[in-house]
Amino acid sequence: MAKSIIPGGSEPPGTFSVSSGVRPGSTRGHDTDDTDETADSGLETRVDGGHSAAPAIPGLPGLDAAGRPMPVFPDPPPLDRHGPAWVLAMCNQKGGVGKTTSTINLGAALAEWGRRVLLVDFDPQGALSVGLGVNPHDLDRTIYNVLIEQGVAVDDVLLKTNTPGMDLLPSNIDLSAAEIQLVNEVAREHVLARALAPVLPDYDIVLIDCQPSLGLLTLNALTAAQGVIIPLECEFFALRGVALLMQTVDKVKLRLNPQLQVEGILATMFDPRTLHSREVLARVVEAFSDKVFHTVIGRTVRFPETTVVGEPITTYAPSSVGARAYRELAKEVLAR
Ligand code: ADP
Ligand code: MG
Repeated sequence: MAKSIIPGGSEPPGTFSVSSGVRPGSTRGHDTDDTDETADSGLETRVDGGHSAAPAIPGLPGLDAAGRPMPVFPDPPPLDRHGPAWVLAMCNQKGGVGKTTSTINLGAALAEWGRRVLLVDFDPQGALSVGLGVNPHDLDRTIYNVLIEQGVAVDDVLLKTNTPGMDLLPSNIDLSAAEIQLVNEVAREHVLARALAPVLPDYDIVLIDCQPSLGLLTLNALTAAQGVIIPLECEFFALRGVALLMQTVDKVKLRLNPQLQVEGILATMFDPRTLHSREVLARVVEAFSDKVFHTVIGRTVRFPETTVVGEPITTYAPSSVGARAYRELAKEVLAR
């Protein structure tokens, strides 16, 4: 049974429910100033001179931020049963591109759509755990123990998050030792896949937050996954390294995991006010065409703020542009 990450809490985190439409952030006053955020991110609406809420997805009406026709993604239908999970690795060997932010917020948005979600912190930095309010130093056991110790199962380490339906497999700096310890293991790239297998029937989606490298931990994530989501920051060197990442995905597909495919490239930290951001996005679409999600994530200070409070933007600022963008991404991912 998953423990709760609420301090001292054996109580289930269901003191609010998504279905009731009451989210904790809505009572905390973080969500009232979309106008400020609009000014911050430049996601200004052009339809009525700025009087309505800013669109979650920047772009002209009917078009996405890259100028492509914007499809309407259906609301995901409710599920009457769950599993087996679709496993997605959030991967880019460049740091600071939005992997962890996207893991938390895509996960929370999928959970709002009634999906059972497991987030796997697979970075020894433990940023995913921190971003969900867990102090990684306080943990007795983490994903590291599941990988390395006989007899420690995912269930022994799982934590419930404050988002109903979303669990966390936390990590901390211990995981950095696994990279070395696993080198001499038989089938060393399959260790994570084997560890996750018993819980896949319990979840609809598993998101693995990879570390910024293409080392053995990331190879384990790619071997455990069916799909890869590549977050790309809309900055000058965004495309550097993506070719190498694609080659790595191809190699893993050929040698370790035939079902692996790139599910999509997610443009993050997009600022529609700058020509630079728009040019980078245009290059990304030119290079990867349909692989690029129509949904792009705008740059907003709301994301760094959510790390400080340790919760997803979907509850911290439920009607903010950032929250709406990740909900839209969740619909787009489920429609793929
Ligand atoms: P990664 O996991 O790829 O290293 P993070 O998700 O940790 O990247 O993001 C790096 C930093 O950028 C964090 O401080 C995060 O809060 C911030 N950030 C992420 N996405 C955005 C965004 N859309 N707008 C502004 N800041 C962002
Ligand atoms: Mg990260």
